[in-house]
Amino acid sequence: MRLILMGPPGAGKGTQAAAVCHRYGIPAISTGDIFRTNVSAGTPLGVTAQTYMNAGEYVPDEVTNAMVRDRLTQPECRRGFLLDGYPRTVEQVKELDQMLADLQVQLNGVLVLNTDPAALIQRLLDRARTEGRADDTEEVIRRRQEVYADQTAPLVSEYNARGILVSVNGNGRVDHVTDRIHTAIARLGR
Ligand code: ADP
Repeated sequence: MRLILMGPPGAGKGTQAAAVCHRYGIPAISTGDIFRTNVSAGTPLGVTAQTYMNAGEYVPDEVTNAMVRDRLTQPECRRGFLLDGYPRTVEQVKELDQMLADLQVQLNGVLVLNTDPAALIQRLLDRARTEGRADDTEEVIRRRQEVYADQTAPLVSEYNARGILVSVNGNGRVDHVTDRIHTAIARLGR
């Protein structure tokens, strides 16, 4: 199973990615998590990424693409994977196409979580209180939504045109959303 999980910041990608990966026994590749691990460890990648992340901007494509390519070529991804938070730009879509072609594999589907915009902001503000992520301040949260609308939302029509897009209602209880995702995955390729 090779999947992409898309959705605006706060849509619940991380939570749902964990549930999907558990069920299918595939690794989740979360570019946000990889960046955060590198920031905590103070690696050169983390040092580069941190300034962008804290401002709510995307890390430059060449940095992100190289990181994902490295991950996808590892043995753990042979049986499949779920990409969480990648690709997010038109340029990343092109790079991913090339990576998959090099690996001689194809995507099964692209899942998009659609969540009510007001709920997105509220969820992120709630998370700010409990987790204290550096990019969960109100100003940066709003900037992240703008960047998503600008640079990532157009990818939905691109994947839709390829016939592999599935929209999932991301509102309501976490377990209800998980059920909808499992139903959507079960329908893929039919
Ligand atoms: P969210 O979806 O809530 O913004 P993520 O953890 O997925 O949270 O991403 C956090 C930050 O990491 C982003 O705001 C961005 O700076 C960086 N990032 C993650 N994925 C990418 C990507 N594919 N391209 C560029 N930057 C990325």
